[in-house]
Amino acid sequence: MSSIKPAPLFRQDRDQRFRHEEKPFEAMMYRFDDAARRLGLDPGLYSLLRHAERALIVSVPVARDNGQIEVYTGYRVVYNTARGPGKGGIRFHPDVTLDEVTALAAWMTWKCAVVNIPFGGAKGGVICDPSGMSPGELEKLTRRYTAGIMSFLGPDSDVPAPDVNTNERIMAWLMDTYSMHVRHTVTAITTGKPVVMGGSLGRREATGRGCMITTRSALKKLGMPTKGAKVCVQGFGNVGSISAMLMEEQGMKVIAVSDHTGGIYDKKGLNVKEMMEWTSKHRSLEGYKKGEKISNAELLVTDCDVLVPAALENQITADNAPLIKARVICEGANGPTSAAADSILDAKGIFVIPDILANAGGVTVSYFEWVQDRGGYFWDEDTVNQRLERIMERSFDEVAAMADAHEVSMRTASYMLAIDRVAEVHRLRGLYA
Ligand code: NAD
Repeated sequence: MSSIKPAPLFRQDRDQRFRHEEKPFEAMMYRFDDAARRLGLDPGLYSLLRHAERALIVSVPVARDNGQIEVYTGYRVVYNTARGPGKGGIRFHPDVTLDEVTALAAWMTWKCAVVNIPFGGAKGGVICDPSGMSPGELEKLTRRYTAGIMSFLGPDSDVPAPDVNTNERIMAWLMDTYSMHVRHTVTAITTGKPVVMGGSLGRREATGRGCMITTRSALKKLGMPTKGAKVCVQGFGNVGSISAMLMEEQGMKVIAVSDHTGGIYDKKGLNVKEMMEWTSKHRSLEGYKKGEKISNAELLVTDCDVLVPAALENQITADNAPLIKARVICEGANGPTSAAADSILDAKGIFVIPDILANAGGVTVSYFEWVQDRGGYFWDEDTVNQRLERIMERSFDEVAAMADAHEVSMRTASYMLAIDRVAEVHRLRGLYA
């Protein structure tokens, strides 16, 4: 008899880490249901849009550097392709679950519809801890996962991008693996690639730039001056640091920032560029000497005009929402506010720029990258930034007009606008067979 114990085929989802209000798919559907009800969405279309088109679970065997084989579980969910190819990032994280990937894929569907770009929504993830993996192991993981989800991928069917713990380097391996399979180079298979191999100028800054543009529009709508507006930013990675830098360039005063090591506060204003230099050398804010140390929990409830949660999901919940003092929240992260916190923030009169609008600058420039790859003609950075600005300002105005017309929050309005756009295309296309 063999002494090998049978292992479960796939690792179990770790859904128990979420309280009910924080389950990503539940949180997304709570908002979806509210918007669908207000739109009077036809029951058939309602159930169609409540389901992902397809989901794939793959096992990803990797020979580790020590010679042992480890088998990871990967997912790819294509939520909806009515308006165009599935679009959405791939994350490598120990806490990835199918529920989370499905919610993120649905969010991508609504996000692409809010900014009116011709994509559907998708998302992928692998349950792994990349911090404990060598570059060689990460490359093997990326290539084997890409091979596993090949049947979904294609520039006309499903186009990935980086997400948590994946980057340009990983997108280059993904693009190479796909290209080797189809026997020719296909740059448009992914976005967020290095610029030298078909990436777009301005992509790295695009999400933060979109946060800055929508925040500027929100302050204008509320009759608040941009100059001197006090800003707190949670998360100092790509989205948080670029948002802070561009808001500072607009004359706003960044008074607090944080990362996973904690936060720094200075009521007179921090020097964002200096802090970015620090984090690029030291990889975190730890050890930065200026300002006063605060915790992440304190940052969220600091007295300010604009709060930018740009780190993780579920940072603003029913527990801390009553304590938030910001006048505007710009959701740089995906899902930073739990559904239960929405009504508390509304009641307090806090103006929330919802994630599917606030952080849509990234996917908008991903769309530009895909267009440039397919056209084989590349734009200069000013052109990218001007076109991004036009789309973000127009989208903010369209969501705000919907909110005013229906007397609803910006979040509900953004879902209504998105669901209406996706539903309209389904109505026109009809059901196949
Ligand atoms: P990143 O990895 O570059 O940065 C994440 C930051 O969050 C880091 O500074 C990290 O230290 C910090 N962080 C981690 N745990 C924290 C904690 N417990 N408390 C406070 N800070 C913590 O990631 P990113 O690309 O900036 O993405 C951030 C969020 O924005 C994610 O939700 C992501 O899905 C979303 N987003 C990113 C993009 C994009 O283009 N990068 C686009 C849309 C949405």
